[in-house]
Amino acid sequence: MREHDRLFIGGQWADPAGTGTIEVVSPHTEEVVGRVPDGTEADMDAAVDAARRAFDGGPWPRMTPAERAEVLGRLSAIYAERQQSMADLVTEEMGSPILFSIFGQAALPQMVLQYYVDLAASFTWEDERAGMLGPVTVTREPIGVVAAIYPWNVPQFTLMLKLAPALVAGCTVVAKPSPEAPLDAYLLAEWAREAGLPDGVLNIVPAGREAGAYLVAHPGVDKVAFTGSTAAGRSIGAVCGQRLRPVTLELGGKSAAIILEDADLAATVEGLKMAALMNNGEACAAQTRILAPRSRYDEVAGALAAMVGDLVVGDPADYGTEIGPMAARRQRERVEGYIRIGRDEGATLLTGGLDRPHDRGWYVAPTLFGDVSNKMRIAREEIFGPVLALIPYDGEDDAVRIANDSDYGLGGSVWTADVAHGVEVARRIRTGSCGVNLYVLDPNTPFGGYKDSGLGRELGPEGLTAYLEHKAIPRPA
Ligand code: NAD
Repeated sequence: MREHDRLFIGGQWADPAGTGTIEVVSPHTEEVVGRVPDGTEADMDAAVDAARRAFDGGPWPRMTPAERAEVLGRLSAIYAERQQSMADLVTEEMGSPILFSIFGQAALPQMVLQYYVDLAASFTWEDERAGMLGPVTVTREPIGVVAAIYPWNVPQFTLMLKLAPALVAGCTVVAKPSPEAPLDAYLLAEWAREAGLPDGVLNIVPAGREAGAYLVAHPGVDKVAFTGSTAAGRSIGAVCGQRLRPVTLELGGKSAAIILEDADLAATVEGLKMAALMNNGEACAAQTRILAPRSRYDEVAGALAAMVGDLVVGDPADYGTEIGPMAARRQRERVEGYIRIGRDEGATLLTGGLDRPHDRGWYVAPTLFGDVSNKMRIAREEIFGPVLALIPYDGEDDAVRIANDSDYGLGGSVWTADVAHGVEVARRIRTGSCGVNLYVLDPNTPFGGYKDSGLGRELGPEGLTAYLEHKAIPRPA
């Protein structure tokens, strides 16, 4: 049992203003495994105030990027050394299979941090240009106090996408973890203290959406970075629009995996295990619409159903587990609701369904629907669980049309024996990323969405620019 009765504010473990608590329940045992304070508006005030003082009074924003990178490099080294404890903790709080956790919930966030530590040395922080009347210095300055709000599915990754570039840039941060997965942020706070991050540069207040909304609108905040649902993103974007406050939004997805005529089916199905079902399918970039050429439809359906039906569903801490429980009871209800919807819409249940694999824990059976039309709700709405929709297509143009016929535009993939041709097809897909014969997020390449999948990009130099203001200083020759 992990009990935390304080919040991380101003570099100290501070008493919360209220008495409310958030219970963290294991999705596997359904037992309480942790407790943290439920942050209130008064706590958000205190955290923004601490971040504001650390930004306005320094030293953090006035240190050189190299000096900041040195501190963050120490944090990265601590993270690298102890990443197994982070992976175990995230698996315990939200049910990610441990083999995925080791990579996606711990190693990858550390890689993102190290990427930005390294980028500090090569990034162009300032350059000189020839202006009309004389030289101009163009400098990049930290944008200010950042509110970082993120979900429970990949908590450390979605936090680090914001935290690492914001801190390298010289910003200070108020982070709001979700009520479902707040424990990992406490471990990170300990490591940040140990690394010598100055007081107030990172502040952490777990809270629900009301306190989150209060933070978004807080007058002391200069930029909002949000990962979560499209519905919440719209409301946050509207508030930021009203206040002309810069905002980055990483929202939902309904990405398509296009299997071309010439694809090696065994390799494709193996690749889709990860691309479509990573992290129990609780992944915004999961390729949950599988597009198969009609000529090979039966073959694809058979191979995919065998793969999905054979997945090992069980205790996420077990190294043999491929699919763990859904992170929350309401998430299981949502996923089961979509399985009902798929059945009612007339899709063919190829494997899985509503029989729960285990009596205890929030498990759902990995499910594959066949004969799905792209008009069905299970093809249009984000399910956020291990439920796939197999959609037949007639010719490559039809595949591209179906892939693009979505409100979302986050990820995607093309599976083919001809990689160069796959790249040409990927270019036609209106999404922020589209892999060929794999799907991966690299720390040095931008990640984000078109359309309802969001605004702006995280990762890569693009992700750092999101935390910088550009200032021109012209002077006479
Ligand atoms: P959610 O939007 O309900 O919550 C996400 C976070 O935002 C939580 O911390 C929540 O407390 C907070 N929040 C919710 N409404 C808010 C508001 N109006 N103002 C301020 N804060 C608010 O999302 P969820 O259902 O918990 O998470 C799953 C969603 O996240 C999925 O839709 C998924 O696609 C999305 N997601 C996107 C990405 C990406 O990078 N595009 C990555 C992971 C998850």
